Amino acid sequence: MNPTNIQLIRGFKDILPGETELWQHIERTAITLFEDFGYREIRIPIMEKTELFARSIGEDTDIVEKEMYTFADRGGDLLTLRPEATACICRSYIQHKMAAQDPVRKFYTIGPMFRRERPQKGRYRQFYQIDAEIFGIAAPFADIELIFLLRTLFDRLNVTDTTAHVNSLGCPVCRPRFKAALAQILDQAAPHLCADCLRRKDRNPLRVLDCKVPGCRKAMAGAPSILDYLCDDCRTHFSTVTDTLAKLGVPFEIDKQLVRGLDYYTRTAFEIQTGALGAQSAVAGGGRYDGLIESLGGPAMPAIGFAVGFDRLAEIVAATAPLATRPPALFIAALGDTARRQAFEWSTALGVAGIGVSMLYEDRSLKAQMKQANRLNAGQVLIVGESELAAGQVVLRDMASKTQREIPVTALVKTLIEIFSPAPV
Ligand code: ATP
Ligand code: MG
Repeated sequence: MNPTNIQLIRGFKDILPGETELWQHIERTAITLFEDFGYREIRIPIMEKTELFARSIGEDTDIVEKEMYTFADRGGDLLTLRPEATACICRSYIQHKMAAQDPVRKFYTIGPMFRRERPQKGRYRQFYQIDAEIFGIAAPFADIELIFLLRTLFDRLNVTDTTAHVNSLGCPVCRPRFKAALAQILDQAAPHLCADCLRRKDRNPLRVLDCKVPGCRKAMAGAPSILDYLCDDCRTHFSTVTDTLAKLGVPFEIDKQLVRGLDYYTRTAFEIQTGALGAQSAVAGGGRYDGLIESLGGPAMPAIGFAVGFDRLAEIVAATAPLATRPPALFIAALGDTARRQAFEWSTALGVAGIGVSMLYEDRSLKAQMKQANRLNAGQVLIVGESELAAGQVVLRDMASKTQREIPVTALVKTLIEIFSPAPV
């Protein structure tokens, strides 16, 4: 019988050793930056009640309409694998009554999201996001800080080919006037719109502006700019954002077509685009959602956040700066049973002391073991045979200089620790 190999789910992927070093590097860079700016990590569950996403993201969005992994569990509860983190963080903020202690909170979270989209390069069904949110601040400085943080993160990762696209989506005061103006254009454009946009036209008209189908883009090219319809407060807010970004030297473009796909966004919307990615040019997106927390049953609370597409970012960073894996500082080549037992004991003690050690656990020739040490690129090799043990001296060979010396077996671990991590002078 030839059992068929089980493959992973379409649109899902493994991140293998060799890649994970890069993912960890990106993660550490992001975490350091967030912590320096006073953000605290929050970890939310991977599944929530479907209603949370339906209510927050909005029924008429791509995500809720066609991308969510939703199922009834054995108890009949309707659950969804999270397609994004913002709704979950809002749910947590409300549930733990965080506003009562201190409404101003800065969060970050890093983890997998799930959307059943058509898989292609840069687009997966399980993908990862690096997410940051600021709750409780209505002032434009929160918006600026987040865009600035993204720029700094990309700088630190040597990703320089990025531009922030920014727009304002107005607020419940001024958006209705824009929607009315848009409705007229939409009626004229209708014969040229794609099927999705014909549906959006009545239910979620702003999203027609954001459609990537060339026919729709062309039909909407003459659409009015929402920026011409902003109320005074929204206009002041937006100009503070753009003026300050310019002062901080953050490259940005005002993009009146930019409409985030989620219903709850108000005022500033932004997307970080890069030329390094081909078709999937958005490496991060975000915006303000001042109405969301209240609409989910929480207090009226301004908020803003972003999500970086981790997979896309990793792809760019991998292309610019391949990361080397850390080779072991020491390889122990042991010959014979007794020597191997002794070597294994030493290797655990050295590992505990933070010295990278590797050895083979099975009986192999010295030649095979030296080959392995070379393959791993080990700095030094300790050669332990029965005769060396009997003589109380083992051999330490430096692989780069090809020199070797003898080390007494007594207090060997202590000696090696001194060799590999010399005391600071
Ligand atoms: P897109 O226009 O590419 O579909 P989006 O507007 O759906 O993006 P957001 O919900 O704003 O994306 O998510 C923020 C970021 O997450 C995106 O800019 C992108 O980098 C990344 N992202 C979104 N969907 C996927 C996916 N299916 N696979 C990989 N990364 C994704
Ligand atoms: Mg999408």
